[in-house]
Amino acid sequence: MSDYYEVLGVPRDATGDQIKKAYRKLAMKYHPDVAGDPASAEKFKEIGEAYAVLSDDKKRQMYDLGGDPMRGGAGGFGPGGFGGFPGGAQGFDVGGLFDAMFGGQGSRGPRSRVRKGQDALVRLNLTLSEAAFGATKPIRVDTAVICPTCSGRGAADGTEPVTCTTCHGAGDVQTVQRSFLGDIRTVQPCPTCRGYGTVIEHPCGECTGEGRVRSTRTINVKIPAGVSTGNRVHLDSQGEVGPGGGPSGDLYVELSVSPHDVFKRDGDNLEMVAKLPMTAAALGTEVWIDTLEADVEGTVPEEFRVKLDVPPGTQSGTRLVVPARGVPRLRGTGRGDLGVTLLVQTPQSLDDSQRDLLRQLAEARGETRPAATVSRGAAHKGFFSKLKDAFSD
Ligand SMILES: [Zn+2]
Ligand SMILES: [Zn+2]
Repeated sequence: MSDYYEVLGVPRDATGDQIKKAYRKLAMKYHPDVAGDPASAEKFKEIGEAYAVLSDDKKRQMYDLGGDPMRGGAGGFGPGGFGGFPGGAQGFDVGGLFDAMFGGQGSRGPRSRVRKGQDALVRLNLTLSEAAFGATKPIRVDTAVICPTCSGRGAADGTEPVTCTTCHGAGDVQTVQRSFLGDIRTVQPCPTCRGYGTVIEHPCGECTGEGRVRSTRTINVKIPAGVSTGNRVHLDSQGEVGPGGGPSGDLYVELSVSPHDVFKRDGDNLEMVAKLPMTAAALGTEVWIDTLEADVEGTVPEEFRVKLDVPPGTQSGTRLVVPARGVPRLRGTGRGDLGVTLLVQTPQSLDDSQRDLLRQLAEARGETRPAATVSRGAAHKGFFSKLKDAFSD
């Protein structure tokens, strides 16, 4: 493969202009219609390839980094693909080449002022109960909206965009250069109207002709039940309005869930820790627990209490399960469970009579001078991690 810079005879830091000039000169010299021998045709093809790469910033960069955009993919300059300029060469953007050399694949027509708007992303913080049971939350969105004064047209009231006098509405202009090969035409976007074909002589004062203005608005977002941190809610066409009052992009609301001071979420399950006096743990009891629903604004907490049966002789660290009182599943049906880990509290600051009662109990149980009993198997049953979980956070 020959070096494209050498083929065109330009330095490696040549400007786009230098490259274009070098290409024109060589292309005229080696054009098959001028030179007429097979060696020149071969050379002409080489020049065309070199120019196609070096005139395109992306391809040139790829080439400078050691790649070859002309050999990498399909197509390109196949045999016979680049003989007589029928306008049929494929595989890369031949338009620029024609523009530089002969111009004129015909007019591309004026481009539209109206384009689609960008997507927008906002963040929204939720409480755990909002994430679990769903909510409708107002969010403030600072984005582009259609200009209320001109309704997106961009022209001041009572005026219209007028046809551009430079390009007569075509959107692009041709320059013609005479040469011994014939007329060389170059097509460029019209500098007067920037390719739109029309000129807004009296732009709307509010949007300066953009057709859209920045504005803060409030949208109510419906959050489905069961979402968690990192989930996104997609709102169709609620992003920014495009230039010229074009269709809106989409809005994405990224959710994060604040930690709760009672419940810890573990997938669809909720976990909590409840403290229990030693006597209740020994004798057995029933305790009432507020579920997460009691957190939801406007609810009566009493309706969302569940009764836990604590059997006599319950040990500290015991986890009781309340089925289907966890988080509703975002996809699918049903809910996770509520896990309640019990922490048995050893009494502190006893008065004299209480101390006496405990001594009597110890004597009756033969526990006045107990030896610590080693718990066999505790190290293997996840006992320590369970304890750690219950005490952490
Ligand atoms: Zn306006
Ligand atoms: Zn124009």
